Amino acid sequence: MSQNPPSLRTRYFTTTVVLGLIALVVVSFFYRDAVVTKNSVTTTYEIIQNKKKSLDKIRLNLLKVYLNIDLFLLDPLSKGNPDAINDLIVDSAGHAESIATPARITQTDYSHQSKLLNNHFQQLQRQIEDLEQARLDITRQYPGLAVSAIEMPISQNSVISGLQILIDEIESGDLQPESEQLYPLLLKTYSLWISEISQMRIYLANRLASFSEQILKSQGNSVRELKDQVDTNISLIEELYQQEDSFEASSVIKDIKHHTSRWYDVFLDVREISESGAWRSDTHMLQTRIIPLIESIISILNQTNDFLEQDHSRLSEKLKNNNENLSILVVSIILAFTIFIAGIIYSLDKIVFGPISNVTRALLSKAHDFNQPRLEFSNSKEIGNLIRAFQRMDDEVTQRQKDLEHQAMHDHLTGLPNRFMLNQRIEYQILSSERDNNNFSLLLMDLDHFKDINDTLGHDAGDILLNEVSKRIQDLLRKSDTFARLGGDEFCILLPGTERNNSDLIAREIIETIRQPFPIYSHNVNIGASIGIASYPQDGSDPSTLLQRADTAMYVAKRKRTGISFYEAEEDIHSIERLSLINDLTEAVESKHIYLSYQPRFDAKNMSITGAEALLRWEHQKFGFVSPDKVIELAEHTGIINQLTLLVLDIAIAQCALWHSQGHLISVSVNLSAQDLYNGSLCDQISNLLEQHALESKYLTLEITESAMMENIGKSLETLNLLGDLGVTLSVDDFGTGFSSLSYLKKLPVNELKIDKSFVLGMLENHNDRVIVQSTINMGHELGLIVVAEGIENMITMNRISDMGCDYFQGYFMGEPDSSDNLLVLVDKHASPGTHDKTRIG
Ligand code: C2E
Ligand code: CA
Ligand code: CA
Repeated sequence: MSQNPPSLRTRYFTTTVVLGLIALVVVSFFYRDAVVTKNSVTTTYEIIQNKKKSLDKIRLNLLKVYLNIDLFLLDPLSKGNPDAINDLIVDSAGHAESIATPARITQTDYSHQSKLLNNHFQQLQRQIEDLEQARLDITRQYPGLAVSAIEMPISQNSVISGLQILIDEIESGDLQPESEQLYPLLLKTYSLWISEISQMRIYLANRLASFSEQILKSQGNSVRELKDQVDTNISLIEELYQQEDSFEASSVIKDIKHHTSRWYDVFLDVREISESGAWRSDTHMLQTRIIPLIESIISILNQTNDFLEQDHSRLSEKLKNNNENLSILVVSIILAFTIFIAGIIYSLDKIVFGPISNVTRALLSKAHDFNQPRLEFSNSKEIGNLIRAFQRMDDEVTQRQKDLEHQAMHDHLTGLPNRFMLNQRIEYQILSSERDNNNFSLLLMDLDHFKDINDTLGHDAGDILLNEVSKRIQDLLRKSDTFARLGGDEFCILLPGTERNNSDLIAREIIETIRQPFPIYSHNVNIGASIGIASYPQDGSDPSTLLQRADTAMYVAKRKRTGISFYEAEEDIHSIERLSLINDLTEAVESKHIYLSYQPRFDAKNMSITGAEALLRWEHQKFGFVSPDKVIELAEHTGIINQLTLLVLDIAIAQCALWHSQGHLISVSVNLSAQDLYNGSLCDQISNLLEQHALESKYLTLEITESAMMENIGKSLETLNLLGDLGVTLSVDDFGTGFSSLSYLKKLPVNELKIDKSFVLGMLENHNDRVIVQSTINMGHELGLIVVAEGIENMITMNRISDMGCDYFQGYFMGEPDSSDNLLVLVDKHASPGTHDKTRIG
């Protein structure tokens, strides 16, 4: 047994709290982590998105910048808006600045990109400003034009003025040229020169207006062709002038040559510029500086975008991991929960359901009365309590069962085995005797007149007496004997291995020990007992037969007042016979198929017959004569006793009336049963019968046994008083066997005492009986009562009783019960004078 196992409730509560706390800590940790991650991922994601937006903004700005530059270049004065471009760049620079903010999770450093971008934007701003200035400055815008405008006019004009000088000299007449050719040649050259210059201007104009390189080239070639012509002409002019007498001419021509060549050199420069990409500085600047800058910016943007994309995917990865962690957490919680539930189920099974099943099994075993090993104590308080409660209940139930079994098997007053247990013992004894081939005896004992003790001394005294009787008898018995109380004053003793002789011996010892007075409430109570003995196997082979036969024997012992009686088959009327007897008796009473014998009663003074006792006779078709004792017992048993008594009274009164009518004025005695005293209408019925048969009440004597009178003294007094008032004679029958004390006798309205025949029968041998007879006669006379002696079987007895002063005699010696006719014969015989002589009777 474990010492105070912990409560299941406490255990589950603690486990749940601990596991719950652990789960809470783990979950909150993971949850917090997940939330923080999610938040930072979201923030970072937003930052990245913002950066992307900034990049897009920058891209858009760049596009706008580009468009604005285009517009500006196209028409700088009306459409171009340098301020807008500037704003866009400033805005872009701002966005570039914002990129520098570090992303929270990835920690990628964008400040480098930001700085680089800003740098580029500054450059871009400068370049655009430069471009704008260049676009607005025509010389800067078209460098070829600038060169032509700056360099060429001097040579141009120098050639023109040189040719003019030469022409003027001829025209003024200062020179009369030898060659007629010179003047027109000069004029022609002058014109050619102007054409060359024009052609050059057309070329330049074409450069601005036309985008066809072909045309431009042919225009350029035209200039060269004109230049060649001019050069040829000038060489010719120089030759011509060598023959002329002109002082100035050679230096002028030298100067012209120098300037034409120089002009053309410059033109070649212009042409080189014009036919190269740099003919227009804005596009050039755009191509060579701004676009590369923008491209560089775009590449930085792209690179930054790539970084952002990488960050983005890194974030996604992180988010995915986070989600996985969360999934793992959820799965872990479910798993932990499942394990917890499984644990609870397992432990419930082990600690609760298992022991409960054991308890259930134990209860079922108990219910089916199987042997059940003692239950193990559980290691849980509740189940432990349940098992303890069950075991306590079990113990108590077992104890109660034992008590009940004991109660069921034992008599509660004396603690002796009862009828039920006796039956079992007899059954067992039958089996064992059968096996061992030996005998046993069954003694059925009934206390004589026990009822009187109850009535006179009270039920407590009766109980004490029963206990004392039990003790005395028990002291006489062996351990192997069974001594049982069957109820009331009826006991039974089972004596295993006992032959007839032995059982007789024990029965005598029992009777002897009971005869010794019992001191109860300072009285010395005397009591007798009757014992009937049945033996196995001769008297029966089953408990009920044996008991019934012992009972029959006991009644015989009682009736015969022999104390002990062995069962004799002839005396028995078996139970089946008894049933048919009961049936037949009822029928006989209803059809009045009974008759009466009349036993005369003699007056002791003159031996005349003064009356006769009516004695019941019933001849059964099958069993023959049935003793009146038996008939009365059956009638009392079946409840037809009142009817039977009435029938007897009717016949007896009728008979007596008939005797009277025949001149025999004798009385008739009728025996009443104890139960008749309870019949409230008995008195009226008797009165009616007397009236009916016209018999005077004084001729009717009612005999009531002493014990019947004592059974219920109150009721007896009531009935007897009524009967006394009627004028009938009341006689106490079987006097001496009961316990009527003098005081009672005085109270009862009786007229005579009838000494019980057992005393008379044993009178000659037994001194005690003699004493009883004498004292009864004396006492009766003292009380003014007539004393009758019955059972006189011989003359000696008759004489002794006569000497004792008895008033009336009854007995076989003087007259046996006989028919009315025979009685009358006897009456007549004794009525004749001289029949006083007692010796002649018989
Ligand atoms: P009981 O009232 O004591 O009747 C006398 C019994 O003694 C009668 O037995 C009678 O035959 C017998 N007897 C008479 N003289 C002698 C004798 O000298 N020696 C011996 N040994 N016996 C003698 P019975 O007729 O067998 O009646 C037995 C008992 O039956 C009666 O005893 C009485 O108690 C009862 N009984 C008889 N008839 C009636 C009846 O009509 N009604 C009632 N209630 N009881 C009756
Ligand atoms: Ca009688
Ligand atoms: Ca009697």
